[in-house]
Amino acid sequence: MRAGGAGELFGTNGVRGIANSELTADMALNLGRTIGTLRQGKIAIACDTRISSSMLKSAVSAGIMSTGSDVVDIGIAPTPALQYYVKETDCSAGVIVTASHNPREYNGIKFVQENGVEFYREMDEESERVYMSKKFRIAEWSEVGQLYQDNSGLRKYIEAIINSVELDKSYRVAVDCGNGAGCFTTPEILKELGCDVYGINCNPDGRFPARNPEPVEASLDLLKKAVVDFRADFGVAHDGDADRAVFVDEKGNFVNEDVMLALMAKHYVEKNGGGLVVTPVSSSKCVEDAVKMAGGEIIYTAVGSPVVAKVMIEKKAVFGGEGNGGLIFPEHLIARDGGMSVAKVLELLDEKRKRLSELAAEIPRYHIVKGKVECREKKRLLEGLKEEFPEANHIDGARIDFEDGWVLIRPSGTEPIARVYAEAKTEDRARELYELGLRAIKKILG
Ligand code: MG
Repeated sequence: MRAGGAGELFGTNGVRGIANSELTADMALNLGRTIGTLRQGKIAIACDTRISSSMLKSAVSAGIMSTGSDVVDIGIAPTPALQYYVKETDCSAGVIVTASHNPREYNGIKFVQENGVEFYREMDEESERVYMSKKFRIAEWSEVGQLYQDNSGLRKYIEAIINSVELDKSYRVAVDCGNGAGCFTTPEILKELGCDVYGINCNPDGRFPARNPEPVEASLDLLKKAVVDFRADFGVAHDGDADRAVFVDEKGNFVNEDVMLALMAKHYVEKNGGGLVVTPVSSSKCVEDAVKMAGGEIIYTAVGSPVVAKVMIEKKAVFGGEGNGGLIFPEHLIARDGGMSVAKVLELLDEKRKRLSELAAEIPRYHIVKGKVECREKKRLLEGLKEEFPEANHIDGARIDFEDGWVLIRPSGTEPIARVYAEAKTEDRARELYELGLRAIKKILG
């Protein structure tokens, strides 16, 4: 089980595990009972393309109906499409069955709030208490919930996206959906925005025969080649549930995810004439630089998309996101959204009249050094970091900023390790800051 975060069962992204061994139909049934106990009324559900998704979705649905709540099944859909559906309809909650970027044997179950935002950590903790207590609501025979299908879920999502951008030109785009849920939306979004589309791995297949669901640069050779051969303006690839999007420029070069986050943050601050951008402390300094260049401000949060979403709502941010391809466009939905990311990159190219490689080159570059060390005394490390670096940002570990770079020392929520990230203008300086992080851990833990 991928535990950590909230407690034993719920991690930073709901419940995750290998299907039918770590995440079973029994567990899915009880997770359905849990959400039905916590939220009454209609609950929307969707899943990704995984082989185990139908099994788990059926079990969750049965659990929900046993509590007296109705289930609205919108079929196979990207996570943001389910979230948008929950936000736009009178559903009291949503459930998405997906393991996102994890390998094919995994699956997962994640709860969504009435407003389409994923459950916050404290809500997952409450869910876990109900799940563990097994004190579920049980409906009378005559009050058992019903199952409805709504095939309009994908359409609602696609239309919201195509209506949110206006393009003067038409573009050529290569898209790699990785055989995941994005197959049902992104090619369609692009076509309806007038693009010529070259699709790779755009047939849904839960065996993920072409590549791992995580769109890392090393697995995108086919996409890079397609961009060049097709003379595309850019290429885009999704993870299994298409809440993330990563990009390849018109020359076939992968664009670093932090650079994409910085580009889009800058675009949003410029469009809004200022404003706040929310991102985790692990994001590159290039995001802060780009936001400040455009006259905006940055707010750092702990790592994890639910807390980014929460702070975006509290602070009325104009934009937010993570440096892994998860971009959040608040006027549409406060959630990472792969389909919307594609539409907004088109908007950016259209407004700036520049190539993606040119836009990326305008973002300041940093060198990053990442590593990890064993750490079994997380509390002691955190306390020591506060003493050692009182001026640092302690929202999640310690991020120590310098004129020319920063270092983040952060105990993992799931493993007995501490991660160290260092970033600076030169590789030597990044290495120096990294060593400083390692020395600090050694000094504190002895
Ligand atoms: Mg995902």
